[in-house]
Amino acid sequence: MKARQIEDQRETGRRLVLAAIRSHERVARIDIARATSLSPATVTTITGELLYYGLIEEVSPTSSKSDAKRGRPRVDLKIRGQAHLVAGLKLADKNATVALMDFEGTLRGEYSQKFPQKTLNQKEIVDFAKVLLERATAKVGLKTEDLSGVGIGLAGIIDARRGFVHWSPTLKERNLPLRPLLEEKIPLPFFIDNDVNLVALAEQWFGLGRNVNNFIVVTIEQGVGMGIVIDGNIYRGARGCGAEFGHTKVHLEGALCRCGQRGCLEAYVADYALLREANLSASAPCTDNAD
Ligand SMILES: [Zn+2]
Repeated sequence: MKARQIEDQRETGRRLVLAAIRSHERVARIDIARATSLSPATVTTITGELLYYGLIEEVSPTSSKSDAKRGRPRVDLKIRGQAHLVAGLKLADKNATVALMDFEGTLRGEYSQKFPQKTLNQKEIVDFAKVLLERATAKVGLKTEDLSGVGIGLAGIIDARRGFVHWSPTLKERNLPLRPLLEEKIPLPFFIDNDVNLVALAEQWFGLGRNVNNFIVVTIEQGVGMGIVIDGNIYRGARGCGAEFGHTKVHLEGALCRCGQRGCLEAYVADYALLREANLSASAPCTDNAD
């Protein structure tokens, strides 16, 4: 087997083991082997590496019932929270929110601020992200450089693999290579995804989607979004942009959508569409509907 293949296999093994530890919260090596179908020897090697790099730690188990049977003290493994501090940045309709989380997913700080204006150009969004991260980290006595990475969720049609935004209601420009633009000004790894895909991921890791391989999350807010999980993975579609549910055509040549096209589902059921209809109804002359 070529060195590259061996390294790929090791990387897959590391990811599997880390995912198993994360989903179990606290778990013994033997149970990781069962959950991942890796051999106990492979699990021992991989967990040894993860311990060496400080990504996981050994803890005594919460329950010691099984210890007596085995005749030796059992040791559980868990994700080491202090290993990394990351920032999650949600850019919503009018508000930006930063959540600082440790490697275990424990919230360490929060900060939110209104948008300077409704839509931002490429310079404005990079400057805004920089200020948000500085203020969020300062609030907990840290600096932006103390972060290991930043995840950004925003509405729109986004190729997460490239960090490329085809269109977002938050941005003035279309087809923006947002990740390289951010990484040029803020020296941290950035991960950018559609906000509903991230909700689906959060449900998969921490919420109702735990131990569920196939599910869908639909959100109806200022826009309409859908995150699809198939066989445990976020569905990315051919262009890497997933479902684009809100921009499914339900009425050819229908109401104008924020994306610039006509007849999208979002243009009928999102908050802004309902407000538009309410305004139209309010300004329409009264009619007698009693018949
Ligand atoms: Zn649309």
